[in-house]
Amino acid sequence: MHLAPHIASLGTETAFEVLARAQALAARGRSVINLGIGQSDFPTPPHIVEAGCRALVDGHHGYTPANGILKLREAIAADAFRRFGARVDPAQVVVAPGGKVTLSFALMMLGQPGVEVLTPDPGYPIYRSMIDFSGATAIAYPPGGAGCGAFSADAILSRITPRTRLVILNSPSNPTGEVIPRAELDRLVLGLQWHPQVYVLSDEIYSRLVFGRARHTSLLEYESLRERLIVLDGLSKTYAMSGWRVGWGIWPGNLAEVAARLAINIYSCVNASAQHAGIAALNGPQDDITRMVDTFHTRRELLVPALDRLPGLSCKRPDGAFFAFPDIRGTGRSARELQDRWLEELGVAVLAGTSFGPSGEGHLRLSYASSLDELREALRRIAGWLDVHCSPALRPTA
Ligand code: PLP
Repeated sequence: MHLAPHIASLGTETAFEVLARAQALAARGRSVINLGIGQSDFPTPPHIVEAGCRALVDGHHGYTPANGILKLREAIAADAFRRFGARVDPAQVVVAPGGKVTLSFALMMLGQPGVEVLTPDPGYPIYRSMIDFSGATAIAYPPGGAGCGAFSADAILSRITPRTRLVILNSPSNPTGEVIPRAELDRLVLGLQWHPQVYVLSDEIYSRLVFGRARHTSLLEYESLRERLIVLDGLSKTYAMSGWRVGWGIWPGNLAEVAARLAINIYSCVNASAQHAGIAALNGPQDDITRMVDTFHTRRELLVPALDRLPGLSCKRPDGAFFAFPDIRGTGRSARELQDRWLEELGVAVLAGTSFGPSGEGHLRLSYASSLDELREALRRIAGWLDVHCSPALRPTA
């Protein structure tokens, strides 16, 4: 079969491959703890499920407008105002089946051979995959966080050329958990004034998952950027709704119409009942969300210091998302070796940092969207393995 050549440039998310391997091991009766996949382990809050079911019973089984039910787009706009004081016209919102789709649409619109797109490395692997697929050239920059120093606006501004068309930002970051400080965003937005040809895609899918004193600053708060800002957000992570497939983009100018036209061509609309559940999620009580975020915080406090104490590992405390990104260089092993061996030998699924780009070498990503008991058990198994395989005397020298 002769497939179009650009199909070969599509990458993937190792998380799904590791999930499949973990599930296959579990099906054979192995006890597997999955710290690989980045999805909440909580059930969707009951009032949201009820709204989805009610929508089906009430007969919401047809197509909706391609850009999403107006009430949902209004709820998204109201949410942006509540959280960031940002005025968003519901006409600028395009609801999509998950957060990912906004990224794909942005690259369909702006990516092409000859243009450059700045993307974090380590970063969410689908950025790189879709940049390559679009034919644009990916230019990596360090996102800040564990293992890559602090986020710096200069790291982005210094990489901008006349060919740069898009900068992808992700705060809180997958995989490092870095929350970009407001002062650096101020500097970035100021610097971007000199590069009017550059659009920004701000992936804020983890924006509600921020702990302690850290605060998420949305790019929506910068009026001067709004004409070239695309915001990616959705319900997957915080509302424990990754399988419902409700995400959205907030688009500038006439790009919302272009996104809606892409939607018509590709998926027609998001499942109607899932959109009704989304309305309940955004407009309903937020107590369940607060409770889930508090629980993630508690888990971070267990996992991160415990990883930091393990021989050969060091782990900084991330401010957001639900990932620890420990530095494993002290073990003398590659990230891929630990990913494969811990899954096969310990039944603990983690992801090699290299799944997030070459700069992820020397790191693993562990998701703490698992119960405290599972985290304790995973730590116990890992500590035992490191004792046997990575005591200083046994460590490979190369
Ligand atoms: N952006 C980041 C940084 C993510 O980690 C993910 C999911 O893992 C997504 C976007 C996509 O989210 P969704 O499942 O809603 O498509």
